[in-house]
Amino acid sequence: MSDPLTLLLLTLFGYAGLPTLLARTGFSRVLKRLPAALPQVALTFDDGPDPVWTPRILEILDRFGVPATFFMLGSRAEAHPDLVRQVADAGHEVGVHGYRHRVPALQGLRATLTDVGATVRILTDILQRRPRYYRPPWGIFNLWTGLAARRHNLIPVVWSLYVAEWSRSTTANSIYVDAMQSAGPGTVLLLHDAAGPGSRPDAPAVVAQALPRLITGLRRKGLSLVSLSELLAPAGRGLSHAPPGQNVGSHRP
Ligand SMILES: [Zn+2]
Repeated sequence: MSDPLTLLLLTLFGYAGLPTLLARTGFSRVLKRLPAALPQVALTFDDGPDPVWTPRILEILDRFGVPATFFMLGSRAEAHPDLVRQVADAGHEVGVHGYRHRVPALQGLRATLTDVGATVRILTDILQRRPRYYRPPWGIFNLWTGLAARRHNLIPVVWSLYVAEWSRSTTANSIYVDAMQSAGPGTVLLLHDAAGPGSRPDAPAVVAQALPRLITGLRRKGLSLVSLSELLAPAGRGLSHAPPGQNVGSHRP
């Protein structure tokens, strides 16, 4: 799952999130010409762990037997190590989102390496194994986040579909409708188990409300819900940096 092409582009375009833009436009177009992925979808949850909403979401995932991936903030993992263990013990994957939810484009190399390094250390100390995946805040990969991923041997993962639960106008029903319309083989769905900066405070509540119907609907569409590792495995095609995009564009936490 090494990404020499991604790293080359990250190196060439550096600081301002341009690689992310490329990943969501050019790469997506190229990847769409590849053979179809397996009918699998991966659910991912960012910004946690949250003492109220992470357990609630774990309970729903457990009820439906769905594995997921949680991209955690180091600061929140440090405050709630028991929740990190609870997520991993339930069979879910834990990835790195950054120590705090800082804007990558406003951080230099040293700050980025410190931020990612601290989060890797915290998660490794709690789980006694190193995290595999890295999704920076707002999914912004630039030169520094790319180098941080490389230094810590993390696989960069963005998403290919979001349902905007952070927005005031989003409802559990609109999440369901959007996902039913856009999800397909290989979709990496962005969700949140905690409210991030700029998000409506009850965004995770809307996600929890939508989740049972969403899971049932995706399965009815013939899509299996799998972990990122399974989705990205060679048999599942292996899109580590830029899954073919639906809903690509600007994203708030
Ligand atoms: Zn986030």
